[in-house]
Amino acid sequence: MIYNVTALLSGELGASRVYSIEDESISHEDGDFHGISGDVKLTRTDRGIFLRSEVTGVGVNECSRCLDSAITVLHTVVEDEYFPLNGDLGAGSSLLRQEVIGEEEIPEFWVDEANDLDTSEAIRQGLISETPMVPLCRPHCAGICPECGTNKNTNPCACDIEMIDPRLAALLEFKN
Ligand SMILES: [Zn+2]
Ligand SMILES: [Zn+2]
Repeated sequence: MIYNVTALLSGELGASRVYSIEDESISHEDGDFHGISGDVKLTRTDRGIFLRSEVTGVGVNECSRCLDSAITVLHTVVEDEYFPLNGDLGAGSSLLRQEVIGEEEIPEFWVDEANDLDTSEAIRQGLISETPMVPLCRPHCAGICPECGTNKNTNPCACDIEMIDPRLAALLEFKN
């Protein structure tokens, strides 16, 4: 998901290129995404390259109830502007860089010295923004039993019955 944008950067404003993404993966300590497919459109702006990407992908997280894998199909539209690090593109591009850095907020995305534009972090952030706050392995995950630690999806435990026991015991006591 890295594109060389030398030609775009030296081309006319508004010129664009479209690429397709097929079955890519992004690995990150905060979670992996697989099966990423969609398209990427790169457009030359007066300051750099504008990225618009629409992708679907599969996120793998931990189920918030039972800690099994929670697999979610995600769809996102990403729009970000990339600024060129390369000062040798002519047309005042190094000035442009200083101007951009001079802004209060330093941009997050850059075209590197070799004019390569890496879309993965922008797309990863887009997919993360679509990831549910409370991922579940299945719609009605039964979770882990707080008493015995058993995963109740696969192996129902007897704790619920035991938890009723004290009340039953009290009733029996009352009867006696
Ligand atoms: Zn679960
Ligand atoms: Zn239990």
